[in-house]
Formats: sequence, structure tokens, C-alpha cells
Amino acid sequence: MKPVVLRTKKAARAYVTAQQKAGKTIALVPTMGALHEGHASLMRQARPKADIVIVSVFVNPTQFGPNEDFAKYPRTFQDDLLVCEREKVDAVFAPQPKDMYCGDRSAWVNEESLSRFLCGARRIGHFKGVCTVVSKLFNLFQPQVACFGKKDAQQLLILERMVRDLDFPIKVVECPLIREKSGLALSSRNKYLSPEEKKQALVLSQSLKAAKEAVSSGKSAAETKKLIAKIIATSPLAKVDYISICDRETLEEVKTFKKGQKILVALAVYFGTTRLIDNVWLTTPKK
Ligand code: AMP
Repeated sequence: MKPVVLRTKKAARAYVTAQQKAGKTIALVPTMGALHEGHASLMRQARPKADIVIVSVFVNPTQFGPNEDFAKYPRTFQDDLLVCEREKVDAVFAPQPKDMYCGDRSAWVNEESLSRFLCGARRIGHFKGVCTVVSKLFNLFQPQVACFGKKDAQQLLILERMVRDLDFPIKVVECPLIREKSGLALSSRNKYLSPEEKKQALVLSQSLKAAKEAVSSGKSAAETKKLIAKIIATSPLAKVDYISICDRETLEEVKTFKKGQKILVALAVYFGTTRLIDNVWLTTPKK
């Protein structure tokens, strides 16, 4: 069945009220569209967890900086609908920015600790935009469950913190990062890459694989970071924005590994003007 398309907040509210009256539970999958297999996997995780699965497709202007790619971000709504239909999504919410935000908006949701690091340090205001739009979606849809991908590790950890600290009655589901067979992490921004850039971007997943082996074989944080940098440097087109090995609770840089420490190895690297992120979630050896 084709999903119901909700174009406005008013239509969304009416839909949600009807579902609630019928006693249905809701799982929400927020996206910015240009849907790929990574997004589809979130929908598949959501499907058995609630009666109704709602996907939002909204390129959220408040999470883009003034010199970022908001205007050119891929918009492929008709194809997105086909993905949603295939994944048995019940409704797709696709509003216009002017319906989502009042022109004189002045209230925001901000996470102030984890947002200081990684992408938050480079994309000022990004996570404020993310937390605000996700809060608005939570208020509109009142889902019991919301699915987010580990691909955007910092976003996921910040949203979990937001849900905890602001008492949203929502279970956040952490979904695995989906890669192409080549190892490249799926991303809507991969569409920007030239064939050569795409080939060279494989250094990201290769360096993370090497990092995983280094950490499990007892190498130090400094040695692991050096190894990652060395592998990325084999690509002449790669320009590193950051390489971070950080604690998964605080996102603070780890200098010395503790035993059994939950860490995140996270990268942001430019290929041409395209900024790609990738990561791996690891635990340091227990002994
Ligand atoms: P986006 O449309 O890029 O804002 O992403 C929407 C959701 O899909 C976020 O929760 C992302 O983490 C998730 N996502 C994007 N790419 C992937 C991927 N390759 N694997 C898993 N989840 C992903």
C-alpha cells in the first residue's frame, strides 16, 4: 500500500489523533530524504516495534550553516516515496520549511555537553538545529519509538541525552551503520562524489577497520590515531577535518585507554567540497 503523504503540521496532527484514538502505537524515523538502504534499514527496525511507522522527509534548514549545502542537498521525493512503500511505511511527513518554522521563531532546544565536540565544534549551531527539529517531530507525532542510525553517532548520542534530560517518553533505537559492499558508509551526500572521489573515500572505512584491529590488539590511542591518519593520507584527495578517538559517554578525547572502555572512533574528511563522516563503535580490551 502507498503511504499516506502528510504535507502540513495540521494534517500530521489529524493523522496522529486518529491513530491514537484507534489505540495504535507509533514509531518515527526522521530523515532528510534522498533515501537509501541505510534509511530503509531504519524503517525495517521500526516496523515490528509499533503499529504505525511514520517517516519524516525534511531537509531541515536550521541544522545547516550559512556556507553549507542546504540549497544543493539532494531532494528526490518521488523515489523516497517508493522506498517508503517498499518498506511498508504507513505515512510520510514532508512539510515545507515555512510550515515547520514561524518566521520569528525564538525558542530552541540545545544540548550543551556532547555538542561541544566532533562535528559540533566544526558545525556551529548544527546540533541545536537537530535537537530542535527532532523535538518538534516528537511533539507532533508523539511516537513511542524513534529510530536513528549509528552512522551519525554524535547525533544519536546527543538525542539520547536530550530524551533522557527532557523526559521525552520515547524509546530511542540505535540502528547499525549500513555500508556499500566496498565498505563506503551509505550517505545521501555520496551523490556529490565523482567516481575518483568515491574510490578514494574508501580510505575512511579502511582506516576504521585497521583502527578496530589496532584497538583489539592492545595498541594505544595515540598509535591508533597515527595509523588512521597514515591510511587516510594515502588518498591525495582526502582533506582531514577531524580524526577523534573519544569516550562514548562524554565524547571527550581519550588520551589513555581504560580497560573495557566504550569508545567511538570518528572521522570527518573532505573529498573535494564533500564532507563525509564515518565511525566505528568499539570497546577496549577488558584485560
Ligand atoms: P539523514 O537523512 O542523513 O539525516 O539520516 C536520517 C537517519 O538515517 C539518521 O538517523 C541517520 O543516522 C540514518 N542513516 C543515514 N545513513 C545511514 C547508514 N549508512 N546506516 C545507518 N543509518 C543511516
